[in-house]
Amino acid sequence: MRIKQVESYVVEQRLETPFYFSQFGFDERQICLVKVVAEDGTYGWGEGYGPANVIRAGVEFLAPLVQGEDPLQVEAIWSKMHLRAMDYARRGVLVAAISAIDIAIWDLRGKLLNQPVSVLLGGRRRESVKVYATGMYFTETDDLAGKLAAEACAYVEQGFQALKMKVGLDVDTDVRHVRAIRDAIGDEIELMVDANHAYSRSEALAFAKRIEPLGIRFFEEPVTPEDYEGYRELRGRTSIPIAGGECEYLLAGFRHLLSNNCVDIAQPDICAAGGLSECKRIAALAQAFQTNVVPHSWGTGIAFAAGLHLVSTLDIVPGRLRMPDALLEMDRSENALRDNLTAPIFSVSDGYVTVPNAPGLGVDVDPDMLARFSRAV
Ligand code: CA
Repeated sequence: MRIKQVESYVVEQRLETPFYFSQFGFDERQICLVKVVAEDGTYGWGEGYGPANVIRAGVEFLAPLVQGEDPLQVEAIWSKMHLRAMDYARRGVLVAAISAIDIAIWDLRGKLLNQPVSVLLGGRRRESVKVYATGMYFTETDDLAGKLAAEACAYVEQGFQALKMKVGLDVDTDVRHVRAIRDAIGDEIELMVDANHAYSRSEALAFAKRIEPLGIRFFEEPVTPEDYEGYRELRGRTSIPIAGGECEYLLAGFRHLLSNNCVDIAQPDICAAGGLSECKRIAALAQAFQTNVVPHSWGTGIAFAAGLHLVSTLDIVPGRLRMPDALLEMDRSENALRDNLTAPIFSVSDGYVTVPNAPGLGVDVDPDMLARFSRAV
């Protein structure tokens, strides 16, 4: 069986309520999807994380390398794409294009072999994955702290046991927001903060010290991803675990992050850092550094399913009888693409999501919705 064609789609949707985070605002969602089709018509879906039109151009550049290849030999195809792109793409959106194609081939491979991707990745350590709700973005309102606290409480009512909120406006405002949310949800719910690299080193340290008493599970992207020394310095001076890696790419990027002792938790995005093939290797590398992986995830059901399958296969370090949960990000911000494009919709039960058992990733794209959301070219 050979790969017959590689199709790419840019889907987009305007938001009903624009929101922003520490770097910029969103008034629409745009995502590049990839469909890899075999000679017999069997297909797999993948997704890239980053500027959709740029990723799509990357997919079109890589597609001739993939056509005619054997989809069962996915890591060999990955190496071919990587070698062709490396001179121009040691990091960045061309790696996201490789990721999207790679995920689609894993989905296709699973369907051809009649096995879930997690089984093909080496086997599940767990049948359901604990998810944390990502939300608490900023919107224009008179009472932002109150609005954020109400949103956090709504996630708890939906069953989430862990939440991640945005910070990175300024230290005083951020501390006020964290306190408001902690007061509203109580001490039992895990709470994480994400600055999206908005802070200077001194601001990150000052913020960390002020929220240390509030029981924070991790502090994500405190400083710019280029400041490895800043990560390491902060990690040595706060008791809050430091997380990062959504702006890192490929094994080499994570080797740099891990060997510099930057993070307690590594956060590759499967749709950007190199796909399932490379994130499996990144997870092995992280394990060797005694560092757990909690993937960054921000897209449609395809990205989320890829995360579920990968996380279901991760060994937690250190191993012990009463094993801590593996974790996966579940974005809850407004996203009509996530909510309508793929089926089944993943439901949260007491804070966990069941890993799909269907062959491949276990999600499919609704063709009517694809047509509705696709950008005309
Ligand atoms: Ca983040």
